[in-house]
Amino acid sequence: MAEKIECLVVGGGVIGIAIARRLALAGLEVLVLEAESSIASHTSSRNSEVIHAGIYYPTNSLKAKLCVAGRKLLYEYCKKKHVPFKQTGKIIIATDSAQVDQLAAYEHQANANGVSNLEHLSAQDVAKLEPQVECHAGLLSPSTGIIDSHNFILALQGDLENAKGTVVFHSKVENVHMSSDKILVEVGQTGSYKVQCRYLINAAGLWAQDVARTMTGLPAACIPTLHLAKAHYFAYQGKSPFERLVYPVAGGGGLGIHATIDLAGQTRFGPDVSWVTDINYDFDSSRQAEFADAIRPYYPGLDSDRLMPAYTGIRPKLSGPGEQAADFEIQAADKHGIDGLVNLFGIESPGLTASLAIGEYVHTALLRSE
Ligand SMILES: Cc1cc2nc3c(=O)[nH]c(=O)nc-3n(C[C@H](O)[C@H](O)[C@H](O)COP(=O)(O)OP(=O)(O)OC[C@H]3O[C@@H](n4cnc5c(N)ncnc54)[C@H](O)[C@@H]3O)c2cc1C
Repeated sequence: MAEKIECLVVGGGVIGIAIARRLALAGLEVLVLEAESSIASHTSSRNSEVIHAGIYYPTNSLKAKLCVAGRKLLYEYCKKKHVPFKQTGKIIIATDSAQVDQLAAYEHQANANGVSNLEHLSAQDVAKLEPQVECHAGLLSPSTGIIDSHNFILALQGDLENAKGTVVFHSKVENVHMSSDKILVEVGQTGSYKVQCRYLINAAGLWAQDVARTMTGLPAACIPTLHLAKAHYFAYQGKSPFERLVYPVAGGGGLGIHATIDLAGQTRFGPDVSWVTDINYDFDSSRQAEFADAIRPYYPGLDSDRLMPAYTGIRPKLSGPGEQAADFEIQAADKHGIDGLVNLFGIESPGLTASLAIGEYVHTALLRSE
């Protein structure tokens, strides 16, 4: 016998929980199945915790639209629910004259994305704001901030549970059988626990493609190739040299090794990018010298002995090395033809910022498929 539930969400990361919360608030009966023993065990606890403004992403991409909408929702949510955050602002810096054109390109793209509050900074302006930073010019993004992502996800889980939704741990989805009138999900290796649902949301992050591959009836062409890009972060011991987030111009699959500050005032440098083929969070301390080389052009006062290994994360990318950055893929019935199913692929940065907007987007997609 299968348990019956209206809506089943696979994955208790920030995306699964944000979607589940939205659907539960809309009155649906929602169950989240999470393979691990707690929420946010993977990418949602291994990121930069930055509330992104929405500067870099191509015009009309999902990343651009959901980041900008999500950022506004996120600031409102944090204020309302007392989730710790700080609108620190961020400075993107050009360390040589060639990079000044890149700042202009960012501003152009930001305007196209509806982020029209960037401010040009001369080297002197930057020196006044961030005396430790050396550069040719800068671009200030006042809307960028930082968030306590763990508290945020707990608040979302609280909303979900208040709306009678449930999260069940140690529950790995192994197989999904589709038929014309129902979706049957097998949980655990023996498959003895079965759940029948009307709506299925696959928000399994790094494993979303694996879950999708078990779905009978889902065309293989709808499952994009996953590329894994590992990221290391080094903590900078002692007092933070910066007041704001400091980013070099982006390149090579990430936003460049930048400086973020957490809400306790600790500076972190990262993330770097290395293309990998398996998911493990081992830390390669030998990267310290590479980090120091990447940071010194904008922070010449760096004391590399203060760089301490912190943690790693892995980006679930849909583009590989040297390819143009791919967009989020949120596939509903209009893409794959299966009513009630939404698959989310490639939810890398700015997924945390976009999470509340992704919840709205998936809710709308399900209503459309009715
Ligand atoms: C290095 C890095 C830095 C980032 N920095 C930022 C940032 O500063 N700002 C920002 O906005 N975004 C950032 N992001 C992006 C953001 O962290 C992600 O978009 C977001 O956390 C993805 O959440 P998720 O729920 O999709 O994935 P996850 O958090 O990985 O959750 C997926 C969950 O699914 C579960 N699962 C997998 N398979 C199964 C199964 N078969 N059955 C049941 N459960 C399963 C997993 O255990 C996991 O808990 C960053 C990402 C990375 C990697």
